[in-house]
Amino acid sequence: MRERYDHVLGCEQESARLALRYGADERLAREAALLHDVTKPLNFDEQLKLCQKYGIILDTVEKNERKLLHALTGACVAGKVYDACAEVCRAIRSHTTGDADMALLDKILYLADYIEPTRNFPGLSELREEAERDLDGAVIMGLTMSVRELAESGRLVHPRTIDARNSLILRKET
Ligand code: FE
Ligand code: FE
Repeated sequence: MRERYDHVLGCEQESARLALRYGADERLAREAALLHDVTKPLNFDEQLKLCQKYGIILDTVEKNERKLLHALTGACVAGKVYDACAEVCRAIRSHTTGDADMALLDKILYLADYIEPTRNFPGLSELREEAERDLDGAVIMGLTMSVRELAESGRLVHPRTIDARNSLILRKET
């Protein structure tokens, strides 16, 4: 419980910092971070109930990688219960997988969730350094780490993660 609390506050702090660094709206960045894991404590049945309530249709990968559901249900709860705006909901929806054509706020939340102060994993310091230098580069790095980790542990990779990575790489090259 405490861990979740620390993670969310760390994410808020990091999200606000990245918003200032890259010229995004700080208030929205904080709001997105505070709400991003709002449905994370719910179990699978509760997640499914929310999906039904909000008309969320799950694809095969989402049905099999249960961790992905909290981003989808969280975005709906943020909007319907907490009155969050479309930008915030969109950032929450894409915070776990990424998405094609990510907006600035989407990238900030994606990274803040990954590198907030309580995180600890191999490659974190490189990712933090890249986040200071180049936002898109850091998101690509984070997505690549996720794809690698999921693949190596035999898990499914959501197409949105591949789309996110491809679209950022393509935009970098042109
Ligand atoms: Fe999350
Ligand atoms: Fe999180």
